[in-house]
Amino acid sequence: MSEKSHMEYRRRRVKRLKRIILGAVFLLITVPVALCIWLMCELNATENELAEITAQYEAQMQITDDLQEQLDEEKASAKEAYDELLARISAAEEESDEGAETAEVNADKEEDNIRRVYLTFDDGPSIYTEQILDILDEYGVKATFFLTGSQVENNPDICRRIAEEGHSIGMHSYSHVYSDIYKSKDNFIKDYTRVKDVITETTGVTPTIYRFPGGSSNTVSKTDMDELCEFLADEGVTYYDWNISSGDAMKYTLTSDKIAYNCISSVGKFKDAVILLHDTGTKLTTVRALPAIIEGIQKMEDTEILPITEDSEVVQHRKSKEIE
Ligand SMILES: [Zn+2]
Repeated sequence: MSEKSHMEYRRRRVKRLKRIILGAVFLLITVPVALCIWLMCELNATENELAEITAQYEAQMQITDDLQEQLDEEKASAKEAYDELLARISAAEEESDEGAETAEVNADKEEDNIRRVYLTFDDGPSIYTEQILDILDEYGVKATFFLTGSQVENNPDICRRIAEEGHSIGMHSYSHVYSDIYKSKDNFIKDYTRVKDVITETTGVTPTIYRFPGGSSNTVSKTDMDELCEFLADEGVTYYDWNISSGDAMKYTLTSDKIAYNCISSVGKFKDAVILLHDTGTKLTTVRALPAIIEGIQKMEDTEILPITEDSEVVQHRKSKEIE
């Protein structure tokens, strides 16, 4: 190889080396830069995505909170509406219950400060009468039983036990069928005679007190109630209504606590308090309420529980013409 061609060969080699080095340097710079740019783009996209997800999550949480709040509000208002409805039903039934109206109390005896409370049981005797008698005995309390003639026929022994233990016995019709008793004065008299006879034959004592089924203020009677009141007055019989209703005649069963509350909470309003209770096979909560009722009344100052007698103050929803 000549000197000239050797030089030419070296020049080309150097040139090639230069190109290789330049290429390598170019790659060393551009690849990391490109990589950095790509990574930054990715990071940016991920950040955006994350921000979007976070926003969505927060929005979702807000919706959940709103829904929870709405639900709570709805629950609260539903509860309120339910309670109001119960109160309205209770008030309506109490109003219609046996046509009761709170009677004005005859409390003009200034000379004595004793409050008298009369526990009265209508519709018996029943399967619970003996339990009632046991409780009354335990507390040393006498009550008044307004008995239904047909029930007396079915339970003569229980009826006698009521009389023997010193409780008062009154009449509460023979059949307790409003449509029959109140159809006419004749029907009323027939029913009255029957219940009076049944009680007299069973206990040996003729009753002198009467409680009208539904009370004297009932609105179902087809006969003028004043006429029936006059009839009883002529018979020497006093009728008694009530000024405190236990509420135990409502269509749905009240708890014992509620019955006891209804009785005790109103006693303080009256000088002579006549409490309406029922003695039938469906009134177990009344029996269970009785100890609390008696204890509640016995705790009151200057208050005594008595049976209705001829000396008792009358509590009537209406006055017969003769009394007026
Ligand atoms: Zn009744």
